[in-house]
Order: sequence, then structure tokens, then C-alpha cells
Amino acid sequence: MKPPVEILYEKGNFCVFRDHRPVAKNHLLIIPKYHVGSVKYLEKDEVGMITQMKEIGLEALEQVAGPEALDDVLDGFHWPPFNTIDHLHLHVISPAKEMSLWGRIQFKQKSLWFTTAEDTIKWIQEHR
Ligand SMILES: [Zn+2]
Repeated sequence: MKPPVEILYEKGNFCVFRDHRPVAKNHLLIIPKYHVGSVKYLEKDEVGMITQMKEIGLEALEQVAGPEALDDVLDGFHWPPFNTIDHLHLHVISPAKEMSLWGRIQFKQKSLWFTTAEDTIKWIQEHR
């Protein structure tokens, strides 16, 4: 049996836990408590949720790793079919410069499979 996931931080409709395959010292996942399949399904009026997820992720990061962890953060979403979990989750990774080679591929900005929270908001505003 898998051990239950330890919730690091919780706020409103969101909770934060550690990625079980971290690519840097701090690798957090922020998820909504209700089901949302992926960023692909978000509508324009839901972009506020992305901003909120990022804010919560940074708050959690500061709490678990201290304010200096905020100096080098990579955040973002995986896009289907490259998402491994069918539940919306935002990655928050710090320090980004310590990422492994595999991490750099997996979390490559502006790739087909990963976009930062900011680029995701832009995409939704342009395509929805
Ligand atoms: Zn992911």
C-alpha cells in the first residue's frame, strides 16, 4: 500500500504536497480539491485560478524552504498527453538551476509539454 500523501500546505480550495519524484531540492505540486482534468479545459473566466495556484505555491515554498527559495523558481503545467496525472497540478520547483538533466527536459519552458503559469494564462486568453 502507498503511504498517504502528506499535505504540506492548504488554503481555500487548494492543497500543496511534494512531488514524489523531485527534480530539485524543493518540488511542490499545487492542486485544486475539486476535479479539473488539465489546463486544456480551463475557460477564460478560470484564469484567476492559475494566479491563485501560483500564489499559494510560492507561499508554501516560502514556508517550507525559507524566503531565499523564492529567488530561483520555475513554475508551470504539463499539457496533455504529456501530463502523467489526469488532475490539474501546478509544479513549483526551486532552485531551478539545480535541476537534473531529466528535469530540464521534463520541465522545459515553452515546449509542447510544459508552460509556465504566466504563459498558460496567455494561452487561455488567446485561445478560449
Ligand atoms: Zn506534471
